[in-house]
Amino acid sequence: MTAHEKRVPITVADGDGIGPEIMDATLRIITAAGARIEIEKIEIGEAVYSRGLDSGIEPSSWDSLRRTQVFLKAPITTPQGGGFKSLNVTVRKTLGMYANVRPCASLHPFVSTKHPKMNIVIVRENEEDVYGGIEHRQTNQVAQCLKLISRPASKRIVRYAFEYARANKRKKVTCFTKDNIMKITDGLFHRTFEEIALEYPDIEHEHWIVDIGAAKLADTPEAFDVIVMPNLYGDILSDVAAQITGSVGLAGSANIGDHCSMFEAIHGSAPRRAGQNLANPSGLLHGALLMLVHIGQGEIAERVHNAWLTTIEDGIHTYDIYKDGVSKEKVGTREFGDAVIARLGREPKVLPPARYAVGAEMNLSIRPGGVPPKKEHVGVDIFIDQRDGNPDEIAARAKRVAMDGVKLVVIANRGSKVWPDGNPDTFWSDQWSLRFEGKPFDGKRVADIIAAMHAAGFDVIKTEGLYTFDGERGYSLAQGQ
Ligand code: NAD
Repeated sequence: MTAHEKRVPITVADGDGIGPEIMDATLRIITAAGARIEIEKIEIGEAVYSRGLDSGIEPSSWDSLRRTQVFLKAPITTPQGGGFKSLNVTVRKTLGMYANVRPCASLHPFVSTKHPKMNIVIVRENEEDVYGGIEHRQTNQVAQCLKLISRPASKRIVRYAFEYARANKRKKVTCFTKDNIMKITDGLFHRTFEEIALEYPDIEHEHWIVDIGAAKLADTPEAFDVIVMPNLYGDILSDVAAQITGSVGLAGSANIGDHCSMFEAIHGSAPRRAGQNLANPSGLLHGALLMLVHIGQGEIAERVHNAWLTTIEDGIHTYDIYKDGVSKEKVGTREFGDAVIARLGREPKVLPPARYAVGAEMNLSIRPGGVPPKKEHVGVDIFIDQRDGNPDEIAARAKRVAMDGVKLVVIANRGSKVWPDGNPDTFWSDQWSLRFEGKPFDGKRVADIIAAMHAAGFDVIKTEGLYTFDGERGYSLAQGQ
């Protein structure tokens, strides 16, 4: 066997519900097309959860994933009730799969869609944002979720989007953020995008505020090509994008890391359709196409993709995309797989044939960062829990706490300034933040203020340091400040 024919070990999980049926069809199709793979099966999902493992995956399965570094995964059924972790989030984060890539293209006129010319790829940051799941209930009335955006992760995902665009001959990368409101977190993502875009003068770049960008995407998706976004926006909008091509049942996605990567359908385990030979295997098949490209078998991906497009063109459709007058034959999962296999070697006549740029390398190496900025501690926000509070009364008590060189500057309630000069219409919850500023400031000062606040009867629930970076403010101002 030559190096070219060497089989690549991959880890495969059949999942739950329709999972085993769509996995069977997918593996039959890609092996018939000549995929050079060596399958290692692992068990995930319901059966594992029911054995009391709250992550849905056996500890021994990690060995297979670390060994093969390639995971083709069918959907699983997430158990109802609390106490279970999301298997997807666990696998992505444990194995550092930082990029989620989801191509969404319409198949007009063979699959009904309002968007006949749509052909986009969503690249979603996969590890940060609110998906750290760092949540706290702090008072009777207020809970918080921390949104974390880091510069290294933003750089990595933005570079991935531009490299993907270049390798796949795409023309434009668009960034969606909400940095008109979240100027520091989304602002960091947007700024990083603008900086890295300069390294790709051959690719057009633009930025949209996510709300109007989402509206444009739902209305005129052909205006976009590759779109890169922080995690939460990407989670929501990649489902919208898949749905408006005609069916969520058609899209696959890749979760890419430096070492390990996972490939799957975007839909769930559709338990009501399980075991009836009904489900459409196309979503998982598209995940497998992304996997084949990833393991250097782009020519096989192209062969499978074109046979699949031909099957769709021939009107051989599963129930979810079947339409009288357009479709020719309603088939089950198995028969759909057979139809694709029978068309291997053929190319579509109406739909554009798939072309995978074989050998197009992506340069994802981490570039060294610049000189770190000078960080200066200039104050602290102290959050307190106080029912029936009144800003003037809180300010009067807190001012007594202030010490040499430290001044109470502002009091806010959920980000809105309520003191000094608050607006009587602002609603007050039981969570207040008191901003103390002064120079010099340090951890000892923070500890002294907390101790003095406790002594004055305040219920301190959290503190946030206020810093400048090369003189630039690294914290938000309260609205109205
Ligand atoms: P779902 O995606 O399983 O099903 C939604 C609808 O789409 C259903 O009407 C279903 O019949 C249809 N559908 C989905 N895939 C199809 C296919 N391949 N062919 C034809 N029709 C298809 O979403 P759900 O019902 O909300 O979730 C079911 C289970 O899947 C839940 O336990 C959920 O937590 C889980 N889930 C798992 C994953 C994953 O493992 N990656 C992703 C999403 C949901």
